[in-house]
Amino acid sequence: MDRRSFIAASAAASTALGATARPAILGGSKLRTAAWPSWPVWDQREEKAIAKTLASGHWFRGSGKNVAEFEAQYAALTGAKGCLATANGTSALLTSLGAMGVGAGDEVIVTPYTFVASINVILMMNAMPVFVDTDRETFQIDAKKIAAAITDRTTAIMPVHIGGSPADLDTVLKVAASKNIPVLEDACQAHLGEWRGKKVGTLGAAGCFSFQASKNLNSGEGGAILTNDMDLLEKCYAFHNNSRGRKNTGYDFAYIARGANLRMTEFQGALLTAQMTRLEEQAKRRDQNAAYLTSMLKEIPGVKPARMYDGCTRNAYHLYMFRYDKEKFGGLDRALFLKAMAAEGIPASPGYGPLNKEPFLKYTLQSRGYQRIYSPKEIANWHERNHCPENDQLCQEAVWLTQNMLIGERSDMEQVAEAVRRIHAHAAAIARA
Ligand SMILES: *Cc1c(COP(=O)(O)O)cnc(C)c1O
Repeated sequence: MDRRSFIAASAAASTALGATARPAILGGSKLRTAAWPSWPVWDQREEKAIAKTLASGHWFRGSGKNVAEFEAQYAALTGAKGCLATANGTSALLTSLGAMGVGAGDEVIVTPYTFVASINVILMMNAMPVFVDTDRETFQIDAKKIAAAITDRTTAIMPVHIGGSPADLDTVLKVAASKNIPVLEDACQAHLGEWRGKKVGTLGAAGCFSFQASKNLNSGEGGAILTNDMDLLEKCYAFHNNSRGRKNTGYDFAYIARGANLRMTEFQGALLTAQMTRLEEQAKRRDQNAAYLTSMLKEIPGVKPARMYDGCTRNAYHLYMFRYDKEKFGGLDRALFLKAMAAEGIPASPGYGPLNKEPFLKYTLQSRGYQRIYSPKEIANWHERNHCPENDQLCQEAVWLTQNMLIGERSDMEQVAEAVRRIHAHAAAIARA
């Protein structure tokens, strides 16, 4: 037996053994004691870029070149005609909605399975979020249900590529085109994700990205808008630059439309061009590790990895998401399953709660401003319009692993699968303990 097949054979043997090994939560030995890959990753590239920016004294985009250089590189990488960097992902979304003219009295279609910023930006424009239920198998907006949610007030459709896996863009773009409504892709978790070979964020009227510290491309805080519509890009520029268009310099003030200061700093720009040198390689690694993990997890009863749509040619894997069926785990509650995973050294989280049911939405709708914009009937009916039973169930079943866990070794994935197998084999005992 050569070394390779010996290792494979012993790995298989220990896997078989491991399934019956006592879980750590029941006093067995912890499966993994090693640290997970840390995040962010950096070296002299970042140190040099930051030091150079500091020494230049050019710290804001008007005086330096880093932000413009990043925009050019990100546009080239994604195949977008235009890119505008912003302070963060939230401001990228806010800027896009502002440039599209979304405002008071408008409705924006969105998924309830997302980070709260996707909803907050709609509320910041005094528009009404309209939730379309989630496709539980994929964790994405159920695009087949969008048409029924469109009214004469719908001014934007905002699919979110949650976890980095593309929403069903064929269906989203088709229904949007038939009603002439722009699509704003929230691609804040989907760097380098692809739909039918094209980068997500470039298929709608605009696409937004986040470079917040947890995201797959990281400058602490940061964001960007991609678009092929150069008029829209210039509107975005003015919105994020306190109403001033790109050509205005110095004291040549010309206020184009309302806006705010949502600009990216030169330090963020410097970090991003350095971080981008690793993006492709990290994305490949996540993709390979995630595929390997899926091949193992799908064999375990009660574990259903998030399905990808046929049009998905690349998942960015900001999150590795699966559904947990406690009935197949001897009635073991998800919270206890997660605790048992943590005891094995595998951190996993339950993910989002149902955003459409958040009390802050109710308070916003009941605020003086909203009552002046929307009729009592519209506000009273909002709740009825926004039931999302599939999403409610998804929020009870979801389990997430974070992207940094996918940039290590294949053997890391074997440990994740092994922990799940071990817990599965002893689920009833854990539930009783
Ligand atoms: C992170 C994120 C945002 C907001 O980005 P920030 O950079 O944190 O402002 C918006 N939408 C989604 C889906 C996100 O994951």
